[in-house]
Amino acid sequence: MNGLRRMPRLLLHAIAWLPLTTISVAAQIAPPTNSLPASQSPLGDLTSLTADAKMWLQGLIKINTTNPPGNEQLAAKYILAVLQREGIAAEELPVTPGRTSVVARLRSSAVADPSRALILVAHMDVVGVDRAKWTVDPFAAIIKDGYLYGRGAIDNKAMLASNLATFIALKRANARLNRDVIFLATDDEEQFGDASIKILIAKYWDKIAAGFALNEGGNVVLKNGKVQYIAVQASEKVAVNVSVVARGTSGHASMPTKDNSVVHLSSAVAKIGGYVAPVHITAIVRRYFEGIAAVEDDEIAKWMRSLDTADRGEHAQRVISDANPQWNAMLRDTISPTMLTAGIRPNVIPAEARATLNIRLLPGDTIDALLGELNKLINDPLVRLEVQPDAGLAAPPSSLENDFYAAITKVAAQEYGGAPVLPYQSPWATDSAQLRLHNVQSYGLWPFPLTQEDLKRMHGDDERIPLASFAKGIDVESRIVAEFVMTK
Ligand SMILES: [Zn+2]
Repeated sequence: MNGLRRMPRLLLHAIAWLPLTTISVAAQIAPPTNSLPASQSPLGDLTSLTADAKMWLQGLIKINTTNPPGNEQLAAKYILAVLQREGIAAEELPVTPGRTSVVARLRSSAVADPSRALILVAHMDVVGVDRAKWTVDPFAAIIKDGYLYGRGAIDNKAMLASNLATFIALKRANARLNRDVIFLATDDEEQFGDASIKILIAKYWDKIAAGFALNEGGNVVLKNGKVQYIAVQASEKVAVNVSVVARGTSGHASMPTKDNSVVHLSSAVAKIGGYVAPVHITAIVRRYFEGIAAVEDDEIAKWMRSLDTADRGEHAQRVISDANPQWNAMLRDTISPTMLTAGIRPNVIPAEARATLNIRLLPGDTIDALLGELNKLINDPLVRLEVQPDAGLAAPPSSLENDFYAAITKVAAQEYGGAPVLPYQSPWATDSAQLRLHNVQSYGLWPFPLTQEDLKRMHGDDERIPLASFAKGIDVESRIVAEFVMTK
């Protein structure tokens, strides 16, 4: 979550923005009470596979892939060996020295049809740790009180292991496939540098081309031992960094000037801080609020249902935006000033002062339109706004009308006792944007039921996953994939 594309970690983790409640350890590690009595999986009994997957997750956590530098090659070799033991031919794809991806394919027929193929994507790199704050060794994969601890226990080695288990379940069951299924483990998601999925796609698209993808990014939200709802990421906002540059005359601080760059910059940043962009409700956000209203309290639900109405819409938008910073970010472009630089000496007026704005655009909104508004507001010839060169690209949202989205919705609702399944437009960016730019219908879902308390530990201290949730997630993911790829 460092760098341009990421929301502050806190915001990511508060995906549901539920008030934190105290939940007993027993409630957290027991399977959610609204999961139905297990029906036979179309892939057969997954008990021994789930035990294997737990071992793979432990094995992967023990390989330190902290990015930078990543060193994903070691994890890639581990995965390659697992696939080879299953009799699956897998291939290493070198991206940069020391950093390789792994790809493997289960074929449905002799001639591949990339537009039908499903790709299971997960990154192998993790963010760093503040060792002093961990109560266990973050790379020892320790199991304690029903939890598996370690960096990557959720983000994203749990998904990596679950993808691997799902892929291997299809192979072990000798499933008849109606489309190719591709397994892909990627590098450099956390930094989005020169070994990222963007580079991988540029180098190896022919090996990974697919019409559909399952990736990280959405959540099974667990509250009081029950799955409250399932958010399936189908779209994301676009990150753009903008410099605010004020220029004046430098001089001796003993003789103040009217064009002091620090003063002009400060005034501009204060005005930007007060700017509230207009609300644009995208189709996905509309569906999200319609769905989540069913599990919110009556008062909030009433305003969620009024967001788009002519008479009460404006008031509803204010209530919802004020109730929760994430909801606000789902409704409009947002601007966070994040950095300030000016001055070299206490007694010198600097010629230049700079601020950085981290802007998150709704898909469809343009940076030029927003900067036009800000320039009007700032109204100062000494201040300029400059777009930095590392801007994200807007990707079209994934469709909510295809068989894969239908399979995710059907199976998730079935397996989680009828909890609502909602499409989700994340305020932060994921690798799915790169896939969507290549016409892949990509959906984000960590299939594991997790509480806010556990979600907050991703990228934080004592990251952990309840083993019961890990097992349930593998079961659900493999059922979703089976529903979509198996010939009935
Ligand atoms: Zn991740």
